[in-house]
Amino acid sequence: MPNIKLEVVPKPKEGTRIVLKLLATPGFSGEGDYDLLCGSCEKVLAEKIVYGHLQEVVLHCPKCDTHNEVQFRKYKVYPHFSQIGTRF
Ligand SMILES: [Zn+2]
Repeated sequence: MPNIKLEVVPKPKEGTRIVLKLLATPGFSGEGDYDLLCGSCEKVLAEKIVYGHLQEVVLHCPKCDTHNEVQFRKYKVYPHFSQIGTRF
């Protein structure tokens, strides 16, 4: 299962981004192939994520208080094309 280390971003301004404040790690568990890791402390913030899901949200890490952007387009991983919707 590929791990993706997320990019740490500054705290988004109020109302500009969808920020998911996680209460635990991992905060999400899906049925996909990717684990999303905090870019700072490398805790798994979301596990088994389908490529492209949680797209463009910001995950707040409860362990180290950083904001991590989920931006699949930046990652050098090859998607499973069958799982990608029309937005790609
Ligand atoms: Zn962290």
